Amino acid sequence: MSEDDRHCEEILESGERCSAWKIANSAFCLMHTPAMRDECQKMRSRGGKRHWTLDPETFEAMEIRSLEDCREYMNRALVLVAQGKLNPTTLQAMSSAITAMARLIDMSDLDKRIGLLEDKVNKR
Ligand SMILES: [Zn+2]
Repeated sequence: MSEDDRHCEEILESGERCSAWKIANSAFCLMHTPAMRDECQKMRSRGGKRHWTLDPETFEAMEIRSLEDCREYMNRALVLVAQGKLNPTTLQAMSSAITAMARLIDMSDLDKRIGLLEDKVNKR
């Protein structure tokens, strides 16, 4: 068994191989074993600490209710991409989802404003 065989086979965004040790019966370390990723996520959120340094899978879910939130979400994603922690392809997918979200929020805001205007007009 060569030295390399004992290390996780995940290739990081930086192009380097993950340097963590493999866990038993897996080609990956604890962080990169698909079955363990959810578990890690849970452990992390239980701790209530924000970790941005692990991998794209850990991008923190946030509730998006306003255009401000959309901006915040994309900001976070862009920082991660710049740091090499988020795959640009993932960013693209996130970006088109967030654009759709922003459009929906915009439309419902407009709808509310029109509703208010209609109320005013009807009360006259
Ligand atoms: Zn790994």
